[in-house]
Amino acid sequence: MNKPLPVFDGHNDTLLKFVLEKGTAQERSFFTKSGAGHIDLPRCREGGLAGGLFAMFVPSNTGQDFSRPYNPADPANYAEVDQAVALNFTSAMIAMARKIERASEGQVRICRTVQEIRESIEAGSLAVSLHIEGAEAIDKDFNALETLHAAGLRSLGPVWSRKNIFADGVPMAFPSSPDNGPGLTDTGVALVKACNELGILIDLSHLNEKGFWDVARTSRHPLVASHSNAHAVCASARNLTDRQLEAIRETGGLAGINFHVAFLREDGRHDRTTPLETIVRHAAYLVEKLGENHVGLGSDFDGCVLPLDLKDASGLPRLLDAFRNAGFGEELIEKIAWRNWLDVLERTQTTDGR
Ligand SMILES: [Zn+2]
Repeated sequence: MNKPLPVFDGHNDTLLKFVLEKGTAQERSFFTKSGAGHIDLPRCREGGLAGGLFAMFVPSNTGQDFSRPYNPADPANYAEVDQAVALNFTSAMIAMARKIERASEGQVRICRTVQEIRESIEAGSLAVSLHIEGAEAIDKDFNALETLHAAGLRSLGPVWSRKNIFADGVPMAFPSSPDNGPGLTDTGVALVKACNELGILIDLSHLNEKGFWDVARTSRHPLVASHSNAHAVCASARNLTDRQLEAIRETGGLAGINFHVAFLREDGRHDRTTPLETIVRHAAYLVEKLGENHVGLGSDFDGCVLPLDLKDASGLPRLLDAFRNAGFGEELIEKIAWRNWLDVLERTQTTDGR
Protein backbone atom coordinates (compact mmCIF):
# COMPACT_ATOMS: atom_id res chain seq x y z
CA MET A 1 0.00 0.00 0.00
CA ASN A 2 1.24 3.49 -0.84
CA LYS A 3 1.96 5.78 2.09
CA PRO A 4 -1.05 8.10 2.45
CA LEU A 5 -0.60 11.86 2.04
CA PRO A 6 -0.01 13.50 5.43
CA VAL A 7 -2.87 15.48 6.97
CA PHE A 8 -2.47 18.14 9.66
CA ASP A 9 -5.92 18.78 10.98
CA GLY A 10 -7.35 21.79 12.81
CA HIS A 11 -9.63 20.14 15.36
CA ASN A 12 -10.30 16.94 17.28
CA ASP A 13 -11.81 16.12 20.66
CA THR A 14 -9.75 12.99 21.26
CA LEU A 15 -8.18 14.08 24.57
CA LEU A 16 -11.66 14.75 25.98
CA LYS A 17 -12.85 11.36 24.81
CA PHE A 18 -9.93 9.53 26.41
CA VAL A 19 -10.34 11.43 29.71
CA LEU A 20 -14.07 10.70 29.83
CA GLU A 21 -13.54 7.02 29.03
CA LYS A 22 -10.78 6.56 31.61
CA GLY A 23 -11.84 4.16 34.36
CA THR A 24 -15.03 3.15 32.52
CA ALA A 25 -15.84 0.01 30.52
CA GLN A 26 -15.04 2.06 27.37
CA GLU A 27 -11.39 2.73 28.39
CA ARG A 28 -8.99 1.81 25.56
CA SER A 29 -5.39 2.23 24.56
CA PHE A 30 -4.30 4.96 22.15
CA PHE A 31 -1.94 2.39 20.63
CA THR A 32 -4.50 -0.30 19.77
CA LYS A 33 -6.80 -0.03 16.77
CA SER A 34 -10.38 0.32 17.96
CA GLY A 35 -13.81 0.61 16.35
CA ALA A 36 -14.75 3.22 18.97
CA GLY A 37 -14.32 6.95 18.40
CA HIS A 38 -12.41 8.31 15.40
CA ILE A 39 -8.74 8.50 16.44
CA ASP A 40 -6.07 6.16 17.78
CA LEU A 41 -2.47 5.80 16.62
CA PRO A 42 -3.05 2.83 14.25
CA ARG A 43 -5.93 4.65 12.54
CA CYS A 44 -3.84 7.85 12.26
CA ARG A 45 -1.16 5.81 10.49
CA GLU A 46 -3.69 4.16 8.19
CA GLY A 47 -5.29 7.47 7.19
CA GLY A 48 -2.15 9.61 7.11
CA LEU A 49 -3.25 11.80 10.03
CA ALA A 50 0.15 13.22 10.89
CA GLY A 51 -0.94 15.71 13.51
CA GLY A 52 -3.30 18.47 14.45
CA LEU A 53 -4.70 20.79 17.02
CA PHE A 54 -5.82 18.59 19.91
CA ALA A 55 -8.63 20.46 21.64
CA MET A 56 -9.15 20.60 25.36
CA PHE A 57 -12.84 21.19 25.88
CA VAL A 58 -14.52 21.21 29.28
CA PRO A 59 -18.12 19.99 29.08
CA SER A 60 -20.77 21.71 31.19
CA ASN A 61 -21.54 19.59 34.27
CA THR A 62 -18.30 17.64 34.19
CA GLY A 63 -19.68 15.31 36.90
CA GLN A 64 -22.53 13.98 34.73
CA ASP A 65 -22.79 10.44 33.35
CA PHE A 66 -21.03 10.62 29.96
CA SER A 67 -21.84 7.05 29.02
CA ARG A 68 -25.38 8.24 28.19
CA PRO A 69 -25.98 9.41 24.62
CA TYR A 70 -25.19 13.11 24.18
CA ASN A 71 -28.24 15.25 23.52
CA PRO A 72 -27.25 18.53 21.82
CA ALA A 73 -30.68 20.01 22.62
CA ASP A 74 -30.28 19.60 26.40
CA PRO A 75 -29.76 23.11 27.91
CA ALA A 76 -27.63 21.53 30.68
CA ASN A 77 -24.91 21.04 28.03
CA TYR A 78 -24.61 24.82 27.67
CA ALA A 79 -24.46 25.77 31.37
CA GLU A 80 -21.59 28.08 32.37
CA VAL A 81 -18.50 26.39 33.82
CA ASP A 82 -16.58 27.46 36.92
CA GLN A 83 -12.92 28.41 36.30
CA ALA A 84 -11.40 26.15 38.97
CA VAL A 85 -13.41 23.18 37.69
CA ALA A 86 -12.37 23.96 34.10
CA LEU A 87 -8.68 24.33 34.95
CA ASN A 88 -8.72 21.06 36.86
CA PHE A 89 -10.40 19.24 33.97
CA THR A 90 -7.97 20.84 31.48
CA SER A 91 -5.06 19.57 33.60
CA ALA A 92 -6.49 16.05 33.23
CA MET A 93 -6.45 16.45 29.41
CA ILE A 94 -2.86 17.75 29.39
CA ALA A 95 -1.87 14.87 31.65
CA MET A 96 -3.54 12.45 29.23
CA ALA A 97 -1.57 13.95 26.29
CA ARG A 98 1.69 13.75 28.22
CA LYS A 99 1.10 10.13 29.30
CA ILE A 100 0.33 9.15 25.71
CA GLU A 101 3.49 10.98 24.54
CA ARG A 102 5.63 9.21 27.16
CA ALA A 103 4.20 5.77 26.47
CA SER A 104 4.61 6.26 22.70
CA GLU A 105 8.41 6.08 22.74
CA GLY A 106 8.72 8.80 20.12
CA GLN A 107 5.64 7.94 18.06
CA VAL A 108 3.63 10.85 19.50
CA ARG A 109 5.09 14.29 20.22
CA ILE A 110 3.58 17.36 21.87
CA CYS A 111 4.89 20.11 19.58
CA ARG A 112 5.57 23.64 20.77
CA THR A 113 6.76 25.14 17.47
CA VAL A 114 5.98 24.67 13.80
CA GLN A 115 9.55 23.47 13.38
CA GLU A 116 8.76 20.62 15.81
CA ILE A 117 5.58 19.84 13.86
CA ARG A 118 7.60 19.64 10.63
CA GLU A 119 10.19 17.38 12.26
CA SER A 120 7.45 15.12 13.63
CA ILE A 121 5.74 14.77 10.26
CA GLU A 122 9.11 14.04 8.68
CA ALA A 123 9.93 11.42 11.33
CA GLY A 124 6.49 9.83 11.10
CA SER A 125 5.44 10.70 14.66
CA LEU A 126 2.05 12.13 15.44
CA ALA A 127 2.34 15.90 16.05
CA VAL A 128 0.08 17.07 18.88
CA SER A 129 -0.46 20.83 19.21
CA LEU A 130 -2.43 21.68 22.36
CA HIS A 131 -5.52 23.81 21.85
CA ILE A 132 -8.23 25.16 24.15
CA GLU A 133 -11.85 25.19 22.98
CA GLY A 134 -13.66 27.65 25.24
CA ALA A 135 -11.34 29.47 27.65
CA GLU A 136 -13.21 28.80 30.91
CA ALA A 137 -9.99 27.41 32.43
CA ILE A 138 -8.36 30.84 32.19
CA ASP A 139 -8.76 33.39 34.98
CA LYS A 140 -9.26 37.10 34.34
CA ASP A 141 -5.64 37.84 35.38
CA PHE A 142 -4.33 35.32 32.79
CA ASN A 143 -2.12 33.47 35.26
CA ALA A 144 -3.46 30.16 33.95
CA LEU A 145 -2.77 31.35 30.39
CA GLU A 146 0.94 31.64 31.25
CA THR A 147 0.94 28.22 32.92
CA LEU A 148 -0.90 26.56 30.05
CA HIS A 149 1.38 28.22 27.50
CA ALA A 150 4.35 26.78 29.38
CA ALA A 151 2.67 23.36 29.16
CA GLY A 152 2.46 23.69 25.37
CA LEU A 153 -0.80 25.56 24.65
CA ARG A 154 -0.46 27.18 21.19
CA SER A 155 -4.04 27.99 20.13
CA LEU A 156 -7.22 28.99 21.87
CA GLY A 157 -10.88 29.63 21.09
CA PRO A 158 -12.13 32.22 23.61
CA VAL A 159 -15.56 30.66 23.67
CA TRP A 160 -17.48 27.45 22.89
CA SER A 161 -21.21 27.63 22.13
CA ARG A 162 -21.94 28.99 25.61
CA LYS A 163 -21.31 32.26 27.40
CA ASN A 164 -18.22 32.89 29.51
CA ILE A 165 -16.32 35.89 30.91
CA PHE A 166 -14.68 36.53 27.52
CA ALA A 167 -17.44 36.26 24.92
CA ASP A 168 -20.71 34.75 23.72
CA GLY A 169 -20.83 31.64 21.54
CA VAL A 170 -23.14 30.72 18.69
CA PRO A 171 -25.89 28.16 19.34
CA MET A 172 -26.05 24.98 17.24
CA ALA A 173 -28.97 26.54 15.35
CA PHE A 174 -30.14 25.91 11.78
CA PRO A 175 -31.01 27.84 9.76
CA SER A 176 -29.61 30.76 11.68
CA SER A 177 -27.31 33.74 11.46
CA PRO A 178 -24.19 33.71 13.65
CA ASP A 179 -25.10 37.27 14.69
CA ASN A 180 -26.92 36.39 17.89
CA GLY A 181 -25.62 38.44 20.78
CA PRO A 182 -23.00 40.78 22.20
CA GLY A 183 -19.33 40.69 21.23
CA LEU A 184 -16.19 40.29 23.34
CA THR A 185 -16.20 41.60 26.89
CA ASP A 186 -13.33 43.86 28.00
CA THR A 187 -11.72 40.77 29.50
CA GLY A 188 -12.17 39.03 26.13
CA VAL A 189 -10.37 41.88 24.35
CA ALA A 190 -7.56 41.65 26.91
CA LEU A 191 -7.38 37.87 26.32
CA VAL A 192 -6.88 38.39 22.58
CA LYS A 193 -4.03 40.83 23.28
CA ALA A 194 -2.43 38.46 25.80
CA CYS A 195 -2.60 35.61 23.25
CA ASN A 196 -1.03 37.85 20.57
CA GLU A 197 1.80 38.57 22.98
CA LEU A 198 2.45 34.87 23.61
CA GLY A 199 2.03 33.77 19.98
CA ILE A 200 -1.09 31.76 20.84
CA LEU A 201 -3.39 31.54 17.81
CA ILE A 202 -6.93 32.85 18.40
CA ASP A 203 -9.57 30.48 17.04
CA LEU A 204 -12.82 32.06 15.83
CA SER A 205 -14.89 28.86 15.60
CA HIS A 206 -17.94 28.93 17.96
CA LEU A 207 -17.64 32.71 18.42
CA ASN A 208 -20.68 34.78 17.42
CA GLU A 209 -20.43 37.40 14.69
CA LYS A 210 -19.95 40.49 16.90
CA GLY A 211 -17.19 38.63 18.75
CA PHE A 212 -15.62 37.76 15.40
CA TRP A 213 -15.44 41.44 14.39
CA ASP A 214 -14.09 42.40 17.82
CA VAL A 215 -11.25 39.88 17.36
CA ALA A 216 -10.69 41.22 13.82
CA ARG A 217 -10.32 44.74 15.26
CA THR A 218 -8.10 43.65 18.17
CA SER A 219 -5.83 40.86 16.98
CA ARG A 220 -2.54 41.39 15.17
CA HIS A 221 -2.63 37.83 13.84
CA PRO A 222 -4.28 36.26 10.77
CA LEU A 223 -7.95 35.41 11.42
CA VAL A 224 -8.46 31.65 11.76
CA ALA A 225 -11.58 29.54 12.26
CA SER A 226 -10.23 26.06 12.99
CA HIS A 227 -13.39 24.03 12.29
CA SER A 228 -16.10 26.03 10.49
CA ASN A 229 -17.75 25.74 7.08
CA ALA A 230 -19.41 28.09 4.61
CA HIS A 231 -22.75 29.62 5.67
CA ALA A 232 -23.69 30.12 2.01
CA VAL A 233 -23.64 26.33 1.52
CA CYS A 234 -25.10 25.30 4.90
CA ALA A 235 -26.88 28.03 6.88
CA SER A 236 -25.83 26.84 10.35
CA ALA A 237 -25.01 29.50 12.94
CA ARG A 238 -21.67 27.63 13.33
CA ASN A 239 -20.63 28.45 9.75
CA LEU A 240 -18.90 31.51 8.31
CA THR A 241 -20.71 34.18 6.31
CA ASP A 242 -19.20 35.56 3.11
CA ARG A 243 -18.23 38.78 4.92
CA GLN A 244 -16.37 36.77 7.54
CA LEU A 245 -14.61 34.78 4.83
CA GLU A 246 -13.57 38.02 3.18
CA ALA A 247 -12.01 39.21 6.46
CA ILE A 248 -10.18 35.89 6.83
CA ARG A 249 -8.80 36.24 3.30
CA GLU A 250 -7.72 39.85 3.84
CA THR A 251 -5.67 38.92 6.91
CA GLY A 252 -4.07 35.86 5.30
CA GLY A 253 -5.96 33.57 7.70
CA LEU A 254 -7.55 30.15 7.34
CA ALA A 255 -10.83 28.25 7.64
CA GLY A 256 -10.69 24.52 8.49
CA ILE A 257 -13.44 22.37 6.97
CA ASN A 258 -15.59 20.66 9.60
CA PHE A 259 -16.82 17.12 8.78
CA HIS A 260 -19.90 17.21 11.04
CA VAL A 261 -22.82 16.29 8.79
CA ALA A 262 -25.19 18.95 10.19
CA PHE A 263 -22.64 21.71 9.42
CA LEU A 264 -22.13 20.36 5.88
CA ARG A 265 -25.59 19.66 4.54
CA GLU A 266 -27.74 22.24 2.82
CA ASP A 267 -30.72 20.97 4.87
CA GLY A 268 -28.74 20.94 8.15
CA ARG A 269 -29.86 17.37 8.95
CA HIS A 270 -27.95 14.86 11.10
CA ASP A 271 -27.75 12.39 8.23
CA ARG A 272 -24.77 10.04 8.23
CA THR A 273 -25.33 9.06 4.59
CA THR A 274 -24.02 12.52 3.61
CA PRO A 275 -21.62 11.89 0.69
CA LEU A 276 -18.00 13.03 0.70
CA GLU A 277 -18.91 15.27 -2.24
CA THR A 278 -20.69 17.54 0.26
CA ILE A 279 -17.33 18.16 1.96
CA VAL A 280 -15.82 18.77 -1.48
CA ARG A 281 -18.53 21.36 -2.14
CA HIS A 282 -17.55 23.37 0.96
CA ALA A 283 -13.89 23.02 0.02
CA ALA A 284 -14.52 24.35 -3.49
CA TYR A 285 -16.59 27.24 -2.14
CA LEU A 286 -13.97 28.13 0.48
CA VAL A 287 -11.17 27.98 -2.11
CA GLU A 288 -13.21 30.30 -4.35
CA LYS A 289 -13.72 32.81 -1.51
CA LEU A 290 -10.41 32.50 0.36
CA GLY A 291 -7.94 31.42 -2.29
CA GLU A 292 -5.86 28.24 -2.38
CA ASN A 293 -3.60 29.20 0.53
CA HIS A 294 -6.23 29.76 3.16
CA VAL A 295 -8.30 26.55 3.36
CA GLY A 296 -7.49 23.61 5.61
CA LEU A 297 -9.22 20.73 7.35
CA GLY A 298 -10.88 20.94 10.78
CA SER A 299 -12.34 17.46 11.02
CA ASP A 300 -13.96 17.58 14.49
CA PHE A 301 -12.95 13.90 14.87
CA ASP A 302 -14.22 12.44 18.15
CA GLY A 303 -16.61 15.37 18.55
CA CYS A 304 -18.99 15.04 15.61
CA VAL A 305 -21.25 12.86 13.51
CA LEU A 306 -19.15 11.89 10.49
CA PRO A 307 -20.31 10.82 7.03
CA LEU A 308 -20.34 7.00 6.92
CA ASP A 309 -18.00 7.05 3.90
CA LEU A 310 -15.33 8.73 6.02
CA LYS A 311 -15.92 6.57 9.14
CA ASP A 312 -12.89 7.76 11.15
CA ALA A 313 -9.29 9.01 10.74
CA SER A 314 -8.45 5.97 8.63
CA GLY A 315 -10.87 7.24 5.96
CA LEU A 316 -8.96 10.44 5.15
CA PRO A 317 -7.45 9.03 1.92
CA ARG A 318 -11.02 8.52 0.61
CA LEU A 319 -11.70 12.23 1.19
CA LEU A 320 -8.50 13.23 -0.61
CA ASP A 321 -9.56 10.95 -3.49
CA ALA A 322 -12.91 12.75 -3.57
CA PHE A 323 -10.96 16.03 -3.99
CA ARG A 324 -9.01 14.43 -6.87
CA ASN A 325 -12.20 13.18 -8.50
CA ALA A 326 -13.58 16.72 -8.35
CA GLY A 327 -10.55 17.97 -10.29
CA PHE A 328 -8.49 19.46 -7.44
CA GLY A 329 -4.78 19.36 -8.38
CA GLU A 330 -2.19 17.62 -6.19
CA GLU A 331 -0.66 20.92 -5.09
CA LEU A 332 -4.01 22.25 -3.89
CA ILE A 333 -4.77 18.97 -2.11
CA GLU A 334 -1.46 19.14 -0.24
CA LYS A 335 -2.16 22.72 0.75
CA ILE A 336 -5.58 21.80 2.11
CA ALA A 337 -4.29 18.62 3.75
CA TRP A 338 -1.45 20.19 5.76
CA ARG A 339 0.63 22.95 4.18
CA ASN A 340 -1.79 25.83 4.77
CA TRP A 341 -2.20 24.97 8.45
CA LEU A 342 1.56 24.91 9.07
CA ASP A 343 1.95 28.14 7.16
CA VAL A 344 -0.64 30.06 9.20
CA LEU A 345 0.66 28.63 12.49
CA GLU A 346 4.14 29.75 11.50
CA ARG A 347 2.98 33.27 10.74
CA THR A 348 1.13 33.40 14.08
CA GLN A 349 4.13 32.21 16.07
CA THR A 350 6.94 34.06 14.36
CA THR A 351 5.56 37.48 13.44
CA ASP A 352 3.59 40.11 15.22
CA GLY A 353 1.79 41.21 12.12
CA ARG A 354 -0.36 40.00 9.31
ZN1 LIG B 1 -16.14 22.62 18.27
